[in-house]
Amino acid sequence: MADIGIIGAGLAGSGAAYALRDTDHDVTLLEKSRGVGGRAATRRGNDCRYDHGANYVKDADDRTVGLLEDLGTDGLVDIDGPVWTFDESGDIAASDRQEEHKYTWEAGITQFAKRLLAATDAAVRKTTRAESLARTDGTWTVTDTDGDDHGPFDALLLTPPAPQTADLLAATEWADGEDTLTALHDAVDAVEFRTIRTLVLHYDFPLDVPWYAVVNADKAHEVGWIAREECKRGHVPEGESLLIAQMSPAWSTAHYDDPLEEAADAAAAQIADVVGDDRLTDPDWVDDQGWRYALPDDALSPEADAVADARDAGLFVAGDWVAGEARAHEAVWDGIELGETLAESL
Ligand SMILES: Cc1cc2nc3c(=O)[nH]c(=O)nc-3n(C[C@H](O)[C@H](O)[C@H](O)COP(=O)(O)OP(=O)(O)OC[C@H]3O[C@@H](n4cnc5c(N)ncnc54)[C@H](O)[C@@H]3O)c2cc1C
Repeated sequence: MADIGIIGAGLAGSGAAYALRDTDHDVTLLEKSRGVGGRAATRRGNDCRYDHGANYVKDADDRTVGLLEDLGTDGLVDIDGPVWTFDESGDIAASDRQEEHKYTWEAGITQFAKRLLAATDAAVRKTTRAESLARTDGTWTVTDTDGDDHGPFDALLLTPPAPQTADLLAATEWADGEDTLTALHDAVDAVEFRTIRTLVLHYDFPLDVPWYAVVNADKAHEVGWIAREECKRGHVPEGESLLIAQMSPAWSTAHYDDPLEEAADAAAAQIADVVGDDRLTDPDWVDDQGWRYALPDDALSPEADAVADARDAGLFVAGDWVAGEARAHEAVWDGIELGETLAESL
């Protein structure tokens, strides 16, 4: 029996815990936020529920659909309506790409991590932000920002986005592993992320359009994505509209700290123009979320020697930026596969 520590209860961390559910190993997750799910996040307010990070899980393959079914189909929502495109000038076009199933839950996409973890007896320590790591006597200890220690762990899995994982590696003491640590840090630090500011705009009238979402295909518009949360059963009261706008990385970086009202006004004007409906310039309430580390631009090389050397010492990394695709299912499977490896090797 081993003690396994996991930093981050997003989909990769929750997936790893899920894969270890039938073993004798003790699993502890440390999560800086008040809830689990990470970037697959849901918020509630004004009788609405909205996924303000990842919008949905796509039916990427049979194993993903099978996993969703295993987690329980009660409350599972297959979003109705297609994803169309728009271009730099804001012209919307019907997409000819094959429509896929797009899944979330009535209670929101955080259900994915919640259901994975509900199948385990892992301990989840929320509002616990890991600040530094240390290797002593062949085990790992994590110190959080309150100065409390967690561990010792026989294996430690790091799942925050690459820049945050790099910060943790920079704050790691590992006396006889300096070279591995430096090489791992540099490999992780080289994985770049782009920034997205999500704006949430509510209207007390229904929107009569044929799409669930529109995506900026040429990536030249200040708005990257507009989705209608009311297409998800259980998210928005009848007769209302709730738009999720993901602004382009360039706009998001330039306006990351702009006051909410200012950013929402700018987004609403752009959205009204794209959708061709002036009423959309005037939402009756707004909300937002800045995702500094939203989507990885590239992936950590799994062949990097440092990754294998760190694994030999019980230190692992997982997440969408390890899997190489910024997708919920990729993160979950990266975590599950690592959990399975740990289950076999420890
Ligand atoms: C705006 C947006 C839209 C997206 N849309 C989609 C979509 O429609 N479909 C799709 O498939 N994917 C989408 N994605 C991508 C998807 O959300 C991610 O690929 C996936 O959620 C990544 O999971 P993860 O576990 O690798 O990382 P994360 O979800 O980032 O999990 C890492 C966890 O670590 C925690 N953490 C970080 N630092 C510390 C620390 N020091 N101590 C303790 N805990 C810490 C974080 O709070 C977080 O919970 C979107 C992402 C964003 C941001």
